[in-house]
Parts: sequence; structure tokens; C-alpha cells
Amino acid sequence: MKKSYKIDVDCANCANKMEIAAKGTPGVKDAVVNFMTLKMNVEFEDGADHKAVMQDVYKNCKRVEDDCEIYL
Ligand SMILES: [Zn+2]
Repeated sequence: MKKSYKIDVDCANCANKMEIAAKGTPGVKDAVVNFMTLKMNVEFEDGADHKAVMQDVYKNCKRVEDDCEIYL
């Protein structure tokens, strides 16, 4: 399953940090952050609870960049 989320982040470097944090979250198969469109596209592992996984993605992104936002 793939989902797209609107995000807010101040620069491409922080967007990249968010992408790495999202990719490292259990339940996430792949994640791509587009700074130009301020979107995060997430592909979830089969059977993953995308709402629970996104809570962890959010926490992990906040840990690497506290000035970011993901609109869940
Ligand atoms: Zn930044």
C-alpha cells in the first residue's frame, strides 16, 4: 500500500533527513520526500497498520529534525 502525506520542512537537507528517518521505520518499505512539492510518499510493508507506522515515522522525523511537520 502507498500513501501520500503533506509535510512542512524548511530546506532540502532536512527533507532528506526526514526521508532517511522514514525509510528506517519498521513497517515502511520505501519512502520518498519531495521538498519541491512538500510531499512524503510512503510505501508500507504488506499487512502494516499504516496509521500506527506513521506515528512512528512522525516520531523518528521529529527526532532528526524537530522543526518539521507531517500532516497525518
Ligand atoms: Zn533545514
